[in-house]
Amino acid sequence: MVPAVCVACRRAGDVARTDPLCRACRRALPWLGLPRCRRCGLPGECGSHCPARAQAFSGAWAPMAYAGAVPALVNALKERGAVGIARLMAAQIAATAPPGQWAGGSATAGTATQARGAPPAVALVPVPADPLRRRRRGVDHAARLAAELAPRCGLSVAPVLTRPMAVGSRQAGLSRAQRLAPDRLAVGLRTGQRAPPAVPSVAILVDDVHTTGATLHACALALREAGAEDVRAVTYARALRD
Ligand SMILES: [Zn+2]
Ligand SMILES: [Zn+2]
Repeated sequence: MVPAVCVACRRAGDVARTDPLCRACRRALPWLGLPRCRRCGLPGECGSHCPARAQAFSGAWAPMAYAGAVPALVNALKERGAVGIARLMAAQIAATAPPGQWAGGSATAGTATQARGAPPAVALVPVPADPLRRRRRGVDHAARLAAELAPRCGLSVAPVLTRPMAVGSRQAGLSRAQRLAPDRLAVGLRTGQRAPPAVPSVAILVDDVHTTGATLHACALALREAGAEDVRAVTYARALRD
């Protein structure tokens, strides 16, 4: 029997089979406390200096700083897509999410008057993986994380976004303006299916790491243009400012 090895420190021993981390690495996880900027998810209060002030999502939240054992965990999720890692991340997001995190966000969204067949009021939207990377790794890490998070927060997953395949340095299916606009990052709505999933009124983007917010912004723009009234983000980790 192969001994379990901690994904962060690579040491065997003191690692439960169901846990990707040893006890020491788990104890040292860099939990982010309060207060926290509701808009960008950074510790403290940003006020008018919030780096997310011009971004299209209204709030962001993550339980962990991108530090310590977290980069190794994120990497293991991306490279191997280990279900145990997605489960650990989803459980930690769900257990610590602030009140109202999964609720409808505006006066009109999330009401109980949703018509039959109408888009869901609130749903999780995985940030689409870079298609070349996904093909190489065979893992769609944000989709896996969203799938583990959904039953824990009582929401469905609406995989409505996609990133078109890049051809060389060109992105097929996008105009020149779209290719040049950093805002777009080549994110778009999934089309071409018989019944593409509906865009929810309140979309909660799910990804592994929130770094500059550029990808979350591009996804939020695409969702808002498609009719979402509010877009928020949850990630497992938040990269702190230098
Ligand atoms: Zn360890
Ligand atoms: Zn902020």
